[in-house]
Amino acid sequence: LFYGGFMSVRTRFAPSPTGHLHVGGARTALYNWLYAQATGGQFILRIEDTDLERSTQEAMEKQLQDLKWLGLNWDEGPRVDGDYGPYQQSLRKEIYQKYAEELLNEGKAYYCFCSDEELQTQRDLAIKEGRNPHYNGKCRSVSREEAKKRIEAGESAVVRFWKKTEKEYVLNDLIRGDVRFGPDMIGDFVILRSNGMPVYNFCCAIDDASMKITHVLRAEEHLNNTLRQMMIYEAFGWELPTFGHVSLILGEDKQKLSKRHGATSCNEYREKGFLASAMINFLALLGWSSPKGDEIMTTQELISQFDLDRFTPSAAVFDEKKLRWVNQNHLRKLSDKEFWAELLPILERENVDAPSSDQWRALAASVLKERVEILSDAIELLRPLSDESFAIDEKGAETLSWDESKPVINKWQEILSAMNAEYLTEQDFLDAQNKVKEECAVKGKFLFMPIRVAVIGKPHGVDLQSLVPLLPRASLIERADKCLQHMGK
Ligand code: GLU
Repeated sequence: LFYGGFMSVRTRFAPSPTGHLHVGGARTALYNWLYAQATGGQFILRIEDTDLERSTQEAMEKQLQDLKWLGLNWDEGPRVDGDYGPYQQSLRKEIYQKYAEELLNEGKAYYCFCSDEELQTQRDLAIKEGRNPHYNGKCRSVSREEAKKRIEAGESAVVRFWKKTEKEYVLNDLIRGDVRFGPDMIGDFVILRSNGMPVYNFCCAIDDASMKITHVLRAEEHLNNTLRQMMIYEAFGWELPTFGHVSLILGEDKQKLSKRHGATSCNEYREKGFLASAMINFLALLGWSSPKGDEIMTTQELISQFDLDRFTPSAAVFDEKKLRWVNQNHLRKLSDKEFWAELLPILERENVDAPSSDQWRALAASVLKERVEILSDAIELLRPLSDESFAIDEKGAETLSWDESKPVINKWQEILSAMNAEYLTEQDFLDAQNKVKEECAVKGKFLFMPIRVAVIGKPHGVDLQSLVPLLPRASLIERADKCLQHMGK
């Protein structure tokens, strides 16, 4: 499409919102967005909400929010607008009706009065006779005038697309190469329902054409829709956009990714403590690869390396372990300030307090960035920080009843008291632990478990090497003291 003298790429994401954005939808949105960014084109968001029962306003808001979280901002769409709006299909009914009228006028569509029962009988007969169960074309012969009269008399009718030729359609797909659709794959299909609501394939083709979309990247499962859309484009004499059908996303069991595999919406990943930049990185690599073979990529790097030659037609497996690894890599790259900005809302949600001094936060960030894969991993590590949370539990009390425990904790406290710094380093902790081991001549669980009880009140849980450097030495001394009191000093 040429306007203003140059060809500008226009991509779109066209969700039918029924809830939060699914990871598959996010990947589709991402590819379209990346291509627009990489080419200096436009990314359009169009809400396909003609199924009014399933697509609620609330669901749309959730999708907008999820796209914003991912940073996939749209150049045209709801809340932004542009020259080709409205960008919500429920607000474009007249447009679809106008185009349906055009097809009716040109004899490329017709009113069909066949009832559901009649259609079923036709289908049964076709199957019995070994034919394809397509609509038999009965109402093709109903003239416009007759149709008008019958509708005015209260009969209900759908509008059907009139398939004029029996030919093979070939789609030159960016990802799949030539995709051939046999001449008999579909028959005359409905474009307007009897209540005047257009069907998805009709709206989609009208919108992609009238919004001047140049590239459509979408999921493989839409391939059969593409055939209908190609027919609609042809009926209007419009030029087809370039299509690329991206591979399916499978769960680790190689079945199509679904709820049964666990979290499937971006929002669930957000709540679990994944970073938007990591989601973007991971999703981009589900079906596309970097020409340089990079795995950890910033969004900027993705934009600069993105091109349409690197898609793979084979299905991609959603590997959550890899996602966690990608996330950890992104966490490590955050500045301390960015890290805390991401972490604080999660700590707040979980009622975990963390000291607010810059010094402590820098220290904690350096420990946490090494230890956590996702932000919520920090919760269990930070929860034992508050002195109020310190309590000796049943297992802790049992540990304290061992003969070895008293000397061990006495020595531990003595070593701590002899130090000066406000906080221990990881090395200080390891040295202290070794000293206790030597001087008390204990090892294994008789060494580690009492010390752990003296830090967190229980003999299992949190890795002390990470936690101890985050606790003020004074607080460690106090906790050890509580244990000694418990044992009767
Ligand atoms: N509204 C369709 C869906 O959510 C998208 C169709 C398309 O991308 O053309 O699956």
